Order: sequence, then structure tokens, then C-alpha cells
Amino acid sequence: MNQEEQTIQNEAPAPEPRIIPRAQHNVSRKHIDPDALKVLYRLHNHGFTAYLVGGSVRDLLLERRPKDFDVGTDARPSQVHRLFRNSRVIGRRFRLVQVFFRGGKVIEVSTFRKSADVNGGGDDDVLQANNTFGTPAEDALRRDLTINALFYNIADYSLVDYVDGLRDLQAGLIRSVGQADLRFHRDPVRVLRAVRHAARTDFKLTEDTLAAVQKRGAELGCCPSSRVRDELMRDLKGGSACSWLELAHETGVLYNLLPTLKPYYGAEDSHLRRAAAKLLSRVDAMIAKGAALSDPVSLAALFWPALEEAALEEEFPAGRAGHSRWAFFVRETLPPLAKPVQFAKRVLERACQIGAVMGFLRDDPPLARLPKKVTEKGYFADACQLAEVLGRDLAARAEDGPAKKGRKRRRKRRKKRPNSGGSSPT
Ligand code: ATP
Ligand code: MG
Repeated sequence: MNQEEQTIQNEAPAPEPRIIPRAQHNVSRKHIDPDALKVLYRLHNHGFTAYLVGGSVRDLLLERRPKDFDVGTDARPSQVHRLFRNSRVIGRRFRLVQVFFRGGKVIEVSTFRKSADVNGGGDDDVLQANNTFGTPAEDALRRDLTINALFYNIADYSLVDYVDGLRDLQAGLIRSVGQADLRFHRDPVRVLRAVRHAARTDFKLTEDTLAAVQKRGAELGCCPSSRVRDELMRDLKGGSACSWLELAHETGVLYNLLPTLKPYYGAEDSHLRRAAAKLLSRVDAMIAKGAALSDPVSLAALFWPALEEAALEEEFPAGRAGHSRWAFFVRETLPPLAKPVQFAKRVLERACQIGAVMGFLRDDPPLARLPKKVTEKGYFADACQLAEVLGRDLAARAEDGPAKKGRKRRRKRRKKRPNSGGSSPT
């Protein structure tokens, strides 16, 4: 049976939403993307229910700029597609419509749906994914956190709240929709989402949500590794990686994801975890300034203090031999540390490459100029970012950098340099 033809089955009496009229909330159309408004109005003008949904409503209420504006509607995907020439239907498991606008902007329009994990399904089924079309109430109840389940109704600019999400948002609480333990068991990725949103908003996890995070974090291994990895990358690059690290440590989620980091960061007073938090706070600051940090840079920042601690067991000779030894050490040590999360091969490879470049900063005094074979690499820009995260300035050395005449002159200069003593961690 085609999803379009599916009737809404299993209709339990819908919970009554709390309607918060425009005068009683601060979501203004001024802050809603004009193209998202166009989509909402066109759906509404054709007789459909049209809500702004998910993270955008949460962010607008928190007076933050939403990353994207998602729309929920009772129109079926084919009906939405017919309304917008500039759209396409995507998704196999659950079809949704992407509406395209200038500058590559995409507004996603999903038909309200329900999730099997709300209305039933076997207890033991982790990752129930049997989505079917549903009512607005069911759509709210399938969502992860109450603050992520609020709707903004374009018909009268009110908020539609089935889950007391506004109350939690005003009280600074992160609460699972429904029964936390069951919902997180059904989809353990929600554990990561709860920690992320708590870290990002500085809200407190409610008691039952915290208990579910601690219990169900161990089930993250049951989720497809690509989902876990994507969520972790969002944590590292979302601008709140520093507070995320602390909360992921406190809840144990960090070690559910990466048991390899426990010997390094697991102790309550671990100076290495503090060092990692400092690096991640630099990552956050760079992102806040608008830098586009690549995945390998954030990844390397997370592991760096552990990597350096492991390096204390090794001997690194001075000079060129030391650089090669360091490069070898990074390649040998970083992949096993990162292994439990199956990072994309090319991301891990690049993290190793840029980590290896840091070897040129290890000598004391460090190389005054970097060899061209380093500065000309495609990954040198990433290496400069990692150096910045580590509090070093690699770029400056490249700019002074290898003289145009190349190797010969460089060699002469090197001879003049005083002998560098052993190595010290960067
Ligand atoms: P961000 O600002 O990081 O994009 P977001 O809340 O918008 O945060 P998305 O991943 O874009 O997060 O998801 C959009 C919405 O989909 C969420 O707000 C939430 O309502 C719902 N959602 C996402 N993942 C899940 C999940 N695993 N289980 C239930 N609902 C989910
Ligand atoms: Mg989003």
C-alpha cells in the first residue's frame, strides 16, 4: 500500500493542546525566514493546516537564530509537491517535500506523522521506524524532547503545545516527550539529543530524562553507526562542544560513545578532560566568529589531550626524524582511540594528516619556517585551524614561509638554526 493511501489507523483520542495566543508568546514573523513564511501561507491559503515545527520554534522562543525552518502540515506529499513547482519529494521510509529557494535554501515540509514507538509496537524493538501519517497531536508525541515539540500556527500566529513544552522551556528543563526510558530505548540516539540540547541551552535534564540518558546510553551501540557519528559531529561543531563534553562525561555518554577515552578523561578531576574542554571552547569560539571548521579539526580537538598523554610514553628525537616519528605515532594512535565511533574514513585520515603536521611545532624552538611539502598540501588550511585550536600559529610560519627559491635556501637556513633540544608537547 502506498503511504499516500494509508488511512490514519489506531486513532486514540487526541490530547487537547494548550493554545498560546500570539499576545502571550514572543515568536514574531519578523524572525521567521520569508521563504518559510511563503510556504506556510500557501499551504494555509489552500485549506491545509500549516505549522512551523521542531527546532525553529524552540530557537525563536529562546531568541536564537534557527538553523533551519521546518514545516509540518496535513497536506500529503503529493499535494505539497503540486503546490510548489520548485519542490521535490524525497525519502523512502518517510516521504517529505523539499521546497527550493534562491541561494540553495531548502524548506522541508513534512506531513504530520506518528511513530510506532508512541502507540505500541513490541517492547523489545529498538529503533522502531514504522512511521505513518498521523494527526498534529501524534506528530508532537513522536518527537524527542518537549521543547522540540512545539508548533507555531500560521493561521492565527498561536503556539500549539501538546506536551507542555512551553512550560519546560520557560523553566529551563530538558524533558523527553512521553516515558523517557521507553522512548530512549526505542531510539537511543535520543540520548545524544537530550545531552546536546541540555548542553546547548544550559537547561537541566529532568530526573527521569537524566535516568534514561544514563541507562539507555549503553544502547547507542544498537543504532546505525552513521546516525551516532552524525549526531556526535553535530555536538562537536554545534558551538557548545565545551559544555557538551562536561555533560557527556557527567552522564557517562562520552564513554558509551568512546570507551577509549575513559582512561584519559574519566576521572572526576582529570586534567586531560579539562584540557580537552579548553580546546573545544576554542572550537566554539571560532565557530561563534563564523569560522567554518572542518570535521577533522573538531575531531582532532576532542582527542588531542589523550593523544599527547599517550605520546609521553614515546621518544621523539629532535629535528626531521622527530617529525616523522610524530607523524607515525599519530597514525598509529588516533584511529584506535576514535574507533568505537565509526568516523568517516576520509575524516579520520585527514585528522591524522593535520595531527601529523603539528609535529613541526614540537621542537623547541620550533621550526621557524615550514617546509613547502607541508604548506602546499590540500589539508594545510585545516592544519592551521587545528594549530589555532591548540593555541599555536602555524599560518604565520607559512606566510614567512619557505622562500621562493625553495629547498636550497631552506637547507642553508636550517644549518644556521641552533640545535633544537628534545621534544616537548605542543
Ligand atoms: P538543530 O537546531 O540542531 O537542527 P533540531 O531540534 O531542529 O535542532 P533536527 O535534527 O533538525 O534537530 O530535528 C528536527 C526535529 O525533529 C526535532 O526538533 C525533533 O522534534 C525531531 N526529531 C529529530 N530527531 C528525533 C528523534 N530521534 N526522535 C524523535 N524526534 C526527533
Ligand atoms: Mg533542525
